[in-house]
Amino acid sequence: GGHLLEVRDLHVEFRTNEGVARVINGVSYHLDAGETLAVLGESGSGKSVTAQAIMGILDSPPAHVRSGQILYQGRDLLALPEEQRRQVRGKEIAMIFQDALSALNPVFPVGWQIGETLRQREGMSRADARRRAIELMDLVKIPAAARRIGDYPHQFSGGMRQRVMIAMALALNPKVLIADEPTTALDVTVQAQIMDLLADLRRDLGMAMILITHDLGVVAGVADRIAVMYAGRIVEHADVRSLYRAPAHPYTKGLLESIPRLDVRGQELSTIKGLPPNLMAIPSGCPFHPRCPYVQKVCVDVVPHDLVLGDGRTSACHFAQEVRDDSAR
Ligand code: SF4
Ligand code: MG
Repeated sequence: GGHLLEVRDLHVEFRTNEGVARVINGVSYHLDAGETLAVLGESGSGKSVTAQAIMGILDSPPAHVRSGQILYQGRDLLALPEEQRRQVRGKEIAMIFQDALSALNPVFPVGWQIGETLRQREGMSRADARRRAIELMDLVKIPAAARRIGDYPHQFSGGMRQRVMIAMALALNPKVLIADEPTTALDVTVQAQIMDLLADLRRDLGMAMILITHDLGVVAGVADRIAVMYAGRIVEHADVRSLYRAPAHPYTKGLLESIPRLDVRGQELSTIKGLPPNLMAIPSGCPFHPRCPYVQKVCVDVVPHDLVLGDGRTSACHFAQEVRDDSAR
């Protein structure tokens, strides 16, 4: 215990007419006050579903939590009565999404939407909620906040709409902010601005942050630790520096090798061969084995468990040490 937030051995499946998709297969991670954990993976790796389970916004059915715990300050959110869970959600743990346009209501001014949480959950008066909405818009660096509070979502650029959504998420002073692909829909310059903003807010407000992304390029300057997900499992978990210096899982190594480097001209970018796994028929043994350049016979037969590499690093690979040593060369 002792962690602010801890996911323990979570298993989630989707039950559909075509079969059962095992989307989360024993995920565990933790978050301490004030730190940033990046959760990295391809689409379908389970990174968003884990966050949705934390927020209690899994669609159910077909999403079904088979087992596991989600501890917030030591209390299991999955076992709390709905009323107490609602207290935690939004207030203690808030979430922002990739698509600000569909998360915002097109028919209400942004200031009203930011203030709504405060009126509804804190019983704030309209005037106080309006004042606080302007403060929050200032906080997320929307220029001329007091003048723009009555504008509608479509009157803002994509980056400014993302700032509005961040302001809404911060309204109740959460201790944890979950950002699910917060910059994916934005162009590169704006992406950097939003990542800078999130890093500043995390520091200034003393929040902890879970940053969910498929883009290893955006996490380097922001995250303390990285959990890499594949087929609903965490395959590698490390502090950012060690992971960049010498990835210890072939999947992470492949992801790193497919990031363009500014300092190497004319390089051949390698991409990971093959397709993401079918979650209704996850490969035997190591789920990554059909795509892995290091694959051996044992990988097809035996599920690799976390190998502890020191400094809190783990890699779910039978050959984690060899891969790390190979990466470091
Ligand atoms: Fe590759 Fe085998 Fe390691 Fe899986 S266990 S990542 S197949 S080397
Ligand atoms: Mg997602």
